[in-house]
Formats: sequence, structure tokens, C-alpha cells
Amino acid sequence: MAEILRSSPAPEILPSACPLDCPDACSLEVRVEHGRVVKVDGSRLNPITQGYICSKVRRLPEYLYGPERLLYPARRVGPKGSGEYERISWDEALGLAADKIRKARERWGGESILPFYYGGSNGLLTQDTTDARLFRRLGASRMARTVCAAATGRAATGLYGKMPGVAIQDFVHARLIVLWGVNPSASGIHLVPVIQQAQKAGARLAVIDPRRTPLAKQADLHLAPRPGTDLAVALAATRWLFEEGRADLGFLAEHATGSEELRRRASPWTFERAEEASGVPAAEIERFVRLYAETSPAVIRCGWGLERNRNGGSAVASVLALPAVAGKFGVRGGGYVLSNSGAWSLDSAAAMAEPEQATRVINMNRLGETLLERDDPPVEVLFVYNCNPLATMPNQEKVRRGLAREDLFTVVFEQAWTDTARMADLVLPATHFLEHTEVSRGYGSYVLYRTPAVAEAAGEARTNPEVFAELLRRLDLARPGDPETADDLAAALLRRSERMRGELERDGLAHPDCGFAPIQFVDSFPLTPDRKVHLVPEALDREAPRGLYTYQEDPATGGYPLALISPATNRTISSTFGQLVRKRIPLEIHPRDAEARGISEGDAIRVWNDLGEVRVNARLNADLRPGVILLPKGLWSHNTLSGSTANAIAPDTYTDLGQGACFNDARVEVEKLA
Ligand code: SF4
Repeated sequence: MAEILRSSPAPEILPSACPLDCPDACSLEVRVEHGRVVKVDGSRLNPITQGYICSKVRRLPEYLYGPERLLYPARRVGPKGSGEYERISWDEALGLAADKIRKARERWGGESILPFYYGGSNGLLTQDTTDARLFRRLGASRMARTVCAAATGRAATGLYGKMPGVAIQDFVHARLIVLWGVNPSASGIHLVPVIQQAQKAGARLAVIDPRRTPLAKQADLHLAPRPGTDLAVALAATRWLFEEGRADLGFLAEHATGSEELRRRASPWTFERAEEASGVPAAEIERFVRLYAETSPAVIRCGWGLERNRNGGSAVASVLALPAVAGKFGVRGGGYVLSNSGAWSLDSAAAMAEPEQATRVINMNRLGETLLERDDPPVEVLFVYNCNPLATMPNQEKVRRGLAREDLFTVVFEQAWTDTARMADLVLPATHFLEHTEVSRGYGSYVLYRTPAVAEAAGEARTNPEVFAELLRRLDLARPGDPETADDLAAALLRRSERMRGELERDGLAHPDCGFAPIQFVDSFPLTPDRKVHLVPEALDREAPRGLYTYQEDPATGGYPLALISPATNRTISSTFGQLVRKRIPLEIHPRDAEARGISEGDAIRVWNDLGEVRVNARLNADLRPGVILLPKGLWSHNTLSGSTANAIAPDTYTDLGQGACFNDARVEVEKLA
């Protein structure tokens, strides 16, 4: 395919951009020698990048050429999970995949085929293009992409129609910055210097997180609610704003619906009741909301940490309602930011070139249950790409048992030998974003890139569009005029905006219609049909099991009193880069909880509940809220003593909105191993 670089000149520095799952969307400088990447650094094309990048992406040369890189198609020859494979040709591999897909479809129908994906490399050409076309034309089961951002997405869409938020560089104009359920020191790192610059200029910082994160240590105020109780804190703040006459009734009358209903639903939430639910002292919640009411511009950076529980959707909705209630919009540095993905008007339907079919929908959070229990029809072919579900989906042991099903044919199309790839029947090597043409956009910074391949593909790796287009042909599903090459697909995606195409050509990056740094309610408005904020949207109220903003109690029991959280770290992006984290990762526990169980630093411990167990070493951490333990997300089996990770004890229950994952509803007990 033309889009893969097959030869490279002498050493040079080439421009690229990072499409990984991170808000910052850094612009990159890549040093390439003899067609191989030898160094990756940040450039200044995207002003947010400021010439530096995270330590993860600096390690890309190891990622690209390390022993875990998948180089050739291979077929399983030993028992499932044994890791025994034989190298085969692409022709054989694609023939085998097409044959299994055809037979499953003939015997059970298209829904017996399940595509499973989640934007691992996250570029816009690697997903929802030729892949979607293939699976739609097969009539395959559809997958609900809900493991992350499902509840936040529902809340943000319901209240604001995903209105673009405050730009990273505009945080410097805020006088109060609220970080709610987000840790920029680990992910989205370019916000950190902007916050520090704002603090130097006199801005106050409030952090709401069950851990004392690095920025919480520098904050004026740190509230540490129990996981799953942010809703109580936000509703108590809302109640106070209304009751104390600090709500901006003029703004609400002109720009919002549902303010009276929100006021009614928040009214039972006194500071004392919120303290009882969240464990945050009433006086601290009051101090926070007074500071918020009195300070402008004030910006809330709402993260994804508060969505990962039974109350997640309502919690996010209640946090996003605060700037509307308190009248914080209309000034630079005031308002909120969550994801800015709604700012882009890209034509993914044109790139797919096939309308969606009304086939059954499988929620990815229930992969284990789906593989083991669904028979309407059973999943016969699982096609995994851009995803490592054995490491990233809840109820891990059930996923493992599902993948071990003898009659299941699993294809894993990947860049690395992930835990999931080692369970596959057929593995196909995929190119990395530095090895193929890519289109990517930020969901924090407002930039879009079209980047060419800068290095030769490792081994026999092929691009996603190339492989799915070939499968379409082999299954007699290709049609004349289908966009197939990277150039075709990029043109289809960008066909709505001549301006963006021109900017890409001229500047190497493009901005959305709202510009590089929109002011909410000046440059960007709610994308709801009436352009108003819907504080109690009917659809969300219907969807939430007990109605929007209804608090559901903590699932802790006497037997499982500890709340396990599994946040992101600076080592991986979800499970991407997990092969480079070779050491064992400890579980963090507050010294008081450790002492009560006779656990000392470094002890081997067992963490368990009814779903399974994880064996790890203990690390005492006084920055955690007592009663909360931490094992990071994104670990691979080699990172623990037992080969299982936090997801082995994470339930596959759903958030109140969006059927998202409830990782932080894991309630567990810990004991020292003999
Ligand atoms: S992961 Fe984020 S911080 Fe790191 S290079 Fe990519 S965009 Fe930048």
C-alpha cells in the first residue's frame, strides 16, 4: 500500500502527531535512521505541546522494536493460552480468517461474528472506516463501546450536547481551578504547567479526589470523597448555591431548562447529609462551594474518575451543572471542560461507506458473559483489534474463560503480543501510527493532524484499512468506489470542511469551527436542539434506574469493606505500553488499613471478592483515603504475582447512564499471604 513507507533516506527529523488516548494530542518530532525510529520528542507545532512529551511516548523506539512486537501472522498450534504459534503467510492468514467468518455466518448468521475494538492507537483511520464497512456488510453483532466515557458522554450530551469546553491554555486566565476526578500529573500532563502558571498569578486550586494526588498537595483545598460519592458533594454544592441566593437566576432563565427541578432534587442534600455519604466534612464542602461562588473566572476540569461507579452518570451531570447554576460561563477561563471531541465535524459515515445495520448490540463490559452465556446465536468468531480486552475489561476471569472456549475462533490484529493476543487462534501484525498515514484529533487541545508514515513497517505489519479492505474482497463484500486507501479515507473524513483541508495543507494542523480556544457561551454554545443547557434532560431521567441525580448507596459489605480504585498512571495509556512495564506493581494501601490487617510494606498480599483474587505486594501510602486501596489500570499479567489484575475483582455492573463500567465499585478484602 502506498501509505506505508517502504524505504527511508539518511537520518532526519520528521514531523508527526500523537493519536493515543490522551487529551493533549501532542505534535511530535521523530528522529528516523535507516527507516527506523530512534527518538521521539515533542515539537512546538501544537503550542500546547511546548516541545515536550510524556515519558511513555518517549519510549516508542522500545515499543516498536522490542521483543513483544508482533511481526508476522501466526496460527495457534498449542492449547489456548499456551503461547505456541507457528508463523504463516499473510495469504494463509487472511484465507483462514475469511474462511472462519464465512462458515460462522453460513451456520449461525452474521451476529455470530463480534468485532471487538477500542481505539488502541486511536487514530481516526484505524477504526470506524473499512473495519465498520466489513462488519456492517457481514451483519455482525454491534459492539457498544462503553468501557470508558460512556457515562460522561451521556451526561455531557444530555446537558450540553457536548459543547466544546475551556481550552488548556485558557486555564491561565482562571482565578479558581477545580480538578474533579482527574490527575493531570499522570495523564494529560500539559495541563500541569498551565495550572502552575495560573497559581503563580494568584489562582486558587481545588482538587476533588480520594487520593492526595501531586496537584492535591499543591492545592488550596482538597476534598477526598469515598469512591462513588461525588454526586452527594456536587448536589450539596448545588443546594447551597440555590438556597443562599448564589445561583445565577438570570443566566438560568435565559440559557437553561430544568433549573427548578434540579433545585428540587438537590434540596435534600445538606452538607451534613453529603458528609454522611461521602466522608468529606461538611465544613470542607461548604468552604469549597463558597470559594466557587465567590471566584471568577472559575473552571472545572471534570475527569473520568468520577464516572466509574453506579452513580457515575448523575455525578458527572451534577458537576457539569455547577457552572450553569453559578453563572460561570461567558468569560475566558470560566466554565468547564470534559472531552472536546464534539467540536469536530468529521464525516465518518463517508469513510465507512455502509449504513449501520439493526443487528444485536453487545456491551463490551460483558464480554465474558457474552462469550460464555449468549446463544442467540453464540459468538463463533471474535475479531479483536485496537484493544486488549483480557487486560482492560471488568470481570477478568470470566473474560479469560470465554476466550478459552474451544469452539471460539479468536482473531487478534495487534501491534504487540498482548495478554489477549496470547489467547488468540490467529494473530495478525498491525502497523503503528508512526508506520502508516494517520488522521487524528485532540479531545483536549483543539487540533487535527494528517500525518504520513515516518518509519518502515516492522516485520510484515499491515495497516488496518489494508487488512479490512482485503477481507472485504475475500468475502465478496467489496464494492466499486469504496474508499480504501488512507488518502481515500482521509478525504472522506474531511470532505465537509474545505477550511480544515486548507489549514492542514498550509499549517500541518487544523482547528475546529469553534476555533483554537473558544469561550463558552461566547464562541461555543450547547449543541442541544434549542441551544440551551438541559439541567434535567428527560432522556437521562428515564435512563437512570432511579431517575437522574438519585444517589445509590455504597456496595460495600461487612465481608468486603475496602473500595478498590484502579486509576491511570504515567506508565501506560490504558494497557498500551504495558509490555514495557516489566516489574511487579504493588497494591497501595493506607497504613491504617494495613496495620489493621497486620500488613507491612512489601508483604505479599491477597485481594479478593466473590469474582476472584489478585496476589501482589503491598505498598503503604498515606496519600490514600483510609478505606480505599489502589491497583492501577492497564496492568498486564506479568505485573502481578497471580497473573490477574484489578479487573479480576471489578464487577461488570453498569453505571446509571450509558451502561458504562463500574471499576470503582469493586469492594474487596485484603489479607497477608503466609
Ligand atoms: S500520550 Fe499525551 S502527553 Fe504523551 S505524547 Fe501523546 S498526547 Fe502527548
